[in-house]
Amino acid sequence: MSPKESSIAPVEQPFIDGCHQGVLRLQRCTRCHRHQFYPRLVCGYCWARDLEWVSASGKGRIASFTVVRLAVSPAHEAPYVVALVDLEEGPRMMSRVTDCDPESVQIGAQVKVAFAETSDGAPLPVFEPDND
Ligand SMILES: [Zn+2]
Repeated sequence: MSPKESSIAPVEQPFIDGCHQGVLRLQRCTRCHRHQFYPRLVCGYCWARDLEWVSASGKGRIASFTVVRLAVSPAHEAPYVVALVDLEEGPRMMSRVTDCDPESVQIGAQVKVAFAETSDGAPLPVFEPDND
């Protein structure tokens, strides 16, 4: 058995695997049936350890956002939008809103998930305007 096979997978591994496959995954408690994000070992509502991984719809609404006009590093090209997105399933995620004019972003706007390549590691979920 290689060292990799014998190691314990991190709790967020199904989320990371989903990002590689273009699927946003959330944990859902099989006891109280709520979804949660970020990944944890226990349900944040009822403390049950009975969590399953499910595919999210990828749809949500912008709860709040800011336009970053001074990039923190050369890896980020300003201006860009950092937003809190309320997913259809309930959890709130901090992410980026891409593929649109930053000045057009509005609280309450519908968005859908996309996956942005990163220079190191897994693609990360971002959100785009959902005009469907
Ligand atoms: Zn629960």
